[in-house]
Amino acid sequence: MRKDLTAREILAKLVSFPTVSRESNLALVDWVEDYLAAHGVRATRVYNDEGTKAALYANVGPEVEGGVVLSGHTDVVPVEGQAWDTDPYDVVEKDGRLYGRGTCDMKGFDAIALAAVPKALRAGLKRPLQIALSYDEEVGCLGAPRMIAEMAAHLPKAAAAIIGEPSQMKVVNGHKGGIGIATHLRGHEVHSSLMHTGVSAVMEGAKLIDWANRMNAENMARAPGPIDALFEPPWTTCHVGTITGGTADNITAKDCHFVMAFRCIPSETVESWQARYLAAVAEVEAAMRAVHPEARIDTDVRFQVPGLQPERDSAAEALARRITGDNATHAVSYATEAGQFQQAGYSAVIIGPGNIAQAHQPNEWLSLAEFEAGIAFVDRIIEHLCEDA
Ligand SMILES: [Zn+2]
Repeated sequence: MRKDLTAREILAKLVSFPTVSRESNLALVDWVEDYLAAHGVRATRVYNDEGTKAALYANVGPEVEGGVVLSGHTDVVPVEGQAWDTDPYDVVEKDGRLYGRGTCDMKGFDAIALAAVPKALRAGLKRPLQIALSYDEEVGCLGAPRMIAEMAAHLPKAAAAIIGEPSQMKVVNGHKGGIGIATHLRGHEVHSSLMHTGVSAVMEGAKLIDWANRMNAENMARAPGPIDALFEPPWTTCHVGTITGGTADNITAKDCHFVMAFRCIPSETVESWQARYLAAVAEVEAAMRAVHPEARIDTDVRFQVPGLQPERDSAAEALARRITGDNATHAVSYATEAGQFQQAGYSAVIIGPGNIAQAHQPNEWLSLAEFEAGIAFVDRIIEHLCEDA
């Protein structure tokens, strides 16, 4: 492998691996590991249970505390059903933009982080740059927690974690938490003329969905606290996007399926909303069982991502603000891995090139100007790591 690859060349390589979340990312991880090895940097893999995907982390520079983590995810969302004008897995430059799946979200930042490694090694770091690349971010931030736990256990503790999700290089210090609970109501089928002897999974499910409506109305009516007010909307939301169930208009439904999804303001934990929902489930289930003993509700937590609690003047925020000069406050309503880093004891902030509006879209793109701004930002982080603490 040629050692002196530019961020642009690394981006082309990363995008060429079709690392849609459901697929293995190991070919990409192999390549990154070889690239780091070519620079004398040893990387550690953290596999999923099946051994089909891996996160990767590495310490670049001295093994001391006080470094900076550059964190990204390697997976991308699918391209099926999207009308692309170019090959999504081939980076095409046109009109000052880099087109390709993941250029914006977020292989652009991954490439910048990797291109920074040889620069960091030449610069004479006093504190390390740490690289953290996860998998399965797009399906509920499932891959990062195990990687973060290993980093916390095996690497010298970094002073700041930069999560390079597209933020147009603005410093984002808060995001909502998220939780999705698959819900399967199992009713009892009878002819609807005798519905008092049956249990309609659909009609019982409607009670839980109406519980969500009531929660939304209550949350919306409450005056937001000062931190909650940073979010749009400034309250926790409960949402059901799809529902299936039932077999005929005149049969009480045997099954009903939906996912109850919450986006939680950081002052309310995902755990507390899970507990409240499961209490509502238990109440509906008891009423179903009173009619038929085999009726029940099964729940399965599909994902659970903690929010990023804004911490004014935290180490990560102070560093990012000093470099960018951005002193405005930005919070976002989508979940990222930043909350997971924070939960593990890292000072974490989101800042990365690109606009989230281009993420997940057909003809996804990252502007060259944003890409260059991201490179310049990481160059300044390297300078910071060369200064005396
Ligand atoms: Zn992302």
